[in-house]
Amino acid sequence: MTLVEIGPRSGIAFHLREGETLRVIDPAGVQVSDLLAYSATDVREAISNGRTFDYEETVALTAGNRLWSNRSNPMITIVEDTVGRHDFLLTPCSEATFRHFYPDRQVHRGCFGNLAEALAPYGVEPDMIPCAFNLFMNVRIAADGGLRVEPPVSRPGDYVRLRAEMDLVIGLTACSAYASNGGSFKPIRYEIESDMPATPLAGS
Ligand SMILES: [Zn+2]
Repeated sequence: MTLVEIGPRSGIAFHLREGETLRVIDPAGVQVSDLLAYSATDVREAISNGRTFDYEETVALTAGNRLWSNRSNPMITIVEDTVGRHDFLLTPCSEATFRHFYPDRQVHRGCFGNLAEALAPYGVEPDMIPCAFNLFMNVRIAADGGLRVEPPVSRPGDYVRLRAEMDLVIGLTACSAYASNGGSFKPIRYEIESDMPATPLAGS
């Protein structure tokens, strides 16, 4: 159970086998982490916010909820959640969203660029990147339907524990956008918890 740190404004990809648990930690607090999941046997099967909202009948996803694929298979179960506020509505921040929302600031490739680079060795092309499950992201929906991005309510050490329901390729970031992270960029940490012997996954 090695704790891995994702540096501020960066991202990573790795395999997570069925039955393994991924614990994603916000070590400093008030930091978003975008999560993507693909089937390790066919990366055209990917995490889907629309399918997830359909089957879970809520946008307020937390412990007990599952994250579903575009092929209507459960990919991930949220088994523990010390925060209880995440977003699955908004897309990963990108060069284009930086130009749109922060025209006076330096453009960054954002979570989208970080995920595209990290996932390329697994056969995932940029156009195969869907809406991410945005851990710790605090998006408020007003009565009139308006969306407002507020700072995460996560405190230092808060975490989410996710169990893989199939063999997965995971993409994970420390988010790069100003508003999503309360104006400053912190790291994210994660660890993979496994009861199984360490045998390499085919194709890894
Ligand atoms: Zn981001």
